[in-house]
Amino acid sequence: MDRTKKKATKVQVVIVGGGIIGTAVARELSRYKLDVLLLEAEPEVGWGTTKANSGIVHGGFHEEPGTLKAKYCFPGNQMYPQLCEELDVCFKQNGILMVARTPEEMDTVQLYYERGKERGVNVRLLNQEEVAAQEPNLDPGIIGALYAPEGGSVMPFELAAALMENAVQNGVNFRVNAEVINAWTEDGKKYLETEEEVFEADYVINAAGLFSDDLARMFGDDYFSIRPRKGEEYIFDLSVRDVVKSTIFPVPGKISKGILVIPTAAGNLMMGPTGDNVDEKEDLGTTQDGFNRVFEGAKSLVPSLNPRQIIAQFAGVRAASDRGDFIVELSPNVPGLVHLAGIESPGLTAAPAIAADVPRLLKEAGLELEQKEHFEPRRRDVLRFGSLSREEQDALVKKDPSYGRIICRCESITEGEIVDAIHRGARTLDGIKFRVRAGAGRCQGGFCQPLITQLLSRELDIPVTAVTKAGPGSEQVKFVAKELSEMEVAKS
Ligand SMILES: Cc1cc2nc3c(=O)[nH]c(=O)nc-3n(C[C@H](O)[C@H](O)[C@H](O)COP(=O)(O)OP(=O)(O)OC[C@H]3O[C@@H](n4cnc5c(N)ncnc54)[C@H](O)[C@@H]3O)c2cc1C
Repeated sequence: MDRTKKKATKVQVVIVGGGIIGTAVARELSRYKLDVLLLEAEPEVGWGTTKANSGIVHGGFHEEPGTLKAKYCFPGNQMYPQLCEELDVCFKQNGILMVARTPEEMDTVQLYYERGKERGVNVRLLNQEEVAAQEPNLDPGIIGALYAPEGGSVMPFELAAALMENAVQNGVNFRVNAEVINAWTEDGKKYLETEEEVFEADYVINAAGLFSDDLARMFGDDYFSIRPRKGEEYIFDLSVRDVVKSTIFPVPGKISKGILVIPTAAGNLMMGPTGDNVDEKEDLGTTQDGFNRVFEGAKSLVPSLNPRQIIAQFAGVRAASDRGDFIVELSPNVPGLVHLAGIESPGLTAAPAIAADVPRLLKEAGLELEQKEHFEPRRRDVLRFGSLSREEQDALVKKDPSYGRIICRCESITEGEIVDAIHRGARTLDGIKFRVRAGAGRCQGGFCQPLITQLLSRELDIPVTAVTKAGPGSEQVKFVAKELSEMEVAKS
């Protein structure tokens, strides 16, 4: 690669990776008078592990004392209500229940209770009758539980997109489809190269998730590595939404928190995840064996679960580090390089607290930070048609008839909501699905995908043949007759 061909653009701070960590850091740094650029390899932010996880805002009582996971998880949990309120992101504080079936398991539950208490987590112990009264659909063999009412659920992709939107409002720049393919240091400066550009950065934040060890190695840092660990998850349709209120945890095993039953922030029930070491960082396949283990685990908690009601499945890969803990530190070898690596679970929960600690690390590295006079913590409110009253819906449709056209029938998502998502940055069918849930329902986009394809084409002024599901190579329409391409989006 000839490094001299591209002229380097100077930037104060470059963040590599637009997952929940990179976007939370971008928003945090947008509080300061800084020139910040985020580079993301995928067509949209939030498409790495951030879009494929359980979405739980953990309680903060699980983590081993003395670890960075413990340091950041509970403070992160405490930051969630305000963060989601400011960004108008759906956060359901539905609580966490860790259940026991034997006296030995109850002893373990007691240990987690004490661990939580020591940290200041709001935890209570429930006996058999209290558990049954709170969650009548749980297995009657459960003899007691730990209850953490401040645990919750969030839609991680929605949050990452909202963090980025708000960071941009406050002056951060970002590029998508901008994979860092090469990085090096020269005369004390750090350089990063994408297919299109080269950047000269004073400070670099490595938030590249599964690929954070590869990025570190580009700079000559090879002192940690990522060991991918896959988790498979299975989603039920909305008919089983009220089976449990809280997220149900078993007593954890040695390397994972076990198979959970999760009422997601979107309303669907989910079960999972597995925790299997894999060779490939991009091994996102689900398996029969994984399903069997997940279903067996979930059914032992909630016996009424029926596999016929499963509508979707996915796998995400945890970026576990060889330390078995988060890596949140300045590189010992490259001045001005910050590693936020090995952010496996509970990284989603910990993200706001990790991000809030980054200014300290940058100061330690010599950066002078000055707060902006005006930081706007709120993004423009999102209109969610389904959550408005009948009168509000009528008034909105009168003002903007596109809110009267339902595009996704399963989730009742209107054209107005989809168009708004496109104007906020959605560029693909998946981007729409993860932002507003159009295509995430029972038919999984069978009905609405062609309509959303046309909306993307219209709003982005691109041919329908250029609309993709998830970036180049996933085009949905290969050829279209002239009459069809001129057709308007059907009015449903
Ligand atoms: C199955 C599963 C369940 C989980 N459940 C929970 C949970 O319930 N609660 C919880 O708190 N945590 C959970 N986690 C953990 C959580 O998902 C992660 O900690 C979090 O998503 C990590 O975010 P990240 O930003 O570090 O990584 P990512 O989201 O992977 O972001 C990294 C980004 O960097 C980009 N990138 C990589 N290399 C480059 C490059 N060279 N140039 C440019 N961009 C690059 C990637 O495209 C990606 O978008 C779970 C994880 C899994 C796998």
